[in-house]
Amino acid sequence: MKTMMMNKSVFCCLFILFPVLLLAQGRVSRLENYLQTQHLVNIKHLDPTILSDLKYATTDNFTKTVLYDTLSNVYLHPVAAKKLVKAQQYLKQINSGFSLLVYDAVRPLRVQRRMYKVVQNTPYAAYVANPVRTGLHNYGMAVDLTICDSQGVPLDMGTAFDFFGKAAGINREQELIKEGVLTKQQVKNRDLLRKVMIQAGFLTIRGEWWHFNAVSLNEARRSYKVIE
Ligand SMILES: [Zn+2]
Repeated sequence: MKTMMMNKSVFCCLFILFPVLLLAQGRVSRLENYLQTQHLVNIKHLDPTILSDLKYATTDNFTKTVLYDTLSNVYLHPVAAKKLVKAQQYLKQINSGFSLLVYDAVRPLRVQRRMYKVVQNTPYAAYVANPVRTGLHNYGMAVDLTICDSQGVPLDMGTAFDFFGKAAGINREQELIKEGVLTKQQVKNRDLLRKVMIQAGFLTIRGEWWHFNAVSLNEARRSYKVIE
C-alpha cells in the first residue's frame, strides 16, 4: 500500500514536472510556437553563426524582470531576417572571427505592455514606448544587437545595451569623443556595426547605437501586421 502511494506521488510529481523540464530544455516554448504561427523566422535556421544573448529572457535588463519566459531563439519577420543574414555575411567578409550578437528582436505587443507596466512610475518610464503606439520591434522588423569577437566577447561600443543617456546616441559621436565621453575606438566599433547593417538594408535610429529597423514605420504600418 505504502509503495503504491509512493508510486502515485512520484507519478504526480513527474506529471507536474514534465512540462517544466521540457520548457527548461527549450524543447517546448509556448511563445516560440506562437511566433512560428505568426510566420516569423528562427534566425538559427537561416544562419546558425549569428549569436544571441536575449536580454529580456533574463533578469539582465533594465527592468530586472524576465519578460520572455521561454524564448531562447531570435525570431524576426522574414524580410528583416534575410537582411540580418546579409549583414552577418558582410561582417564575416571584413573579419571572419567577428559575429553579430543579438540582444532583442521581435517584441510581441503583450511583452511591450508588460515592459511598460514594469517601468511605470520609475525614472525609466520615459524610455519605454507606450504600447498604444506600436514600434518596429512589435512587427519583428527591428533588431537590437552588437558585434562580438571570436571568444563571444562584445566589442566596446562605449555604453551597455539599453543605456539611458546621450552617450547611447549616434548623432553627436565626434563631439562626444572631444568631450571624452567616447573613445575613437568605441566609435570605430559602432561604425563597423552600422556599415554592415546599412549595407544589408537596415536603417539606424538617432538615440540608440544598438537598434536597427528593417523597414520604415510607415511601411510596416501599411504592409505588415503587429505581433500581438
Ligand atoms: Zn530596439
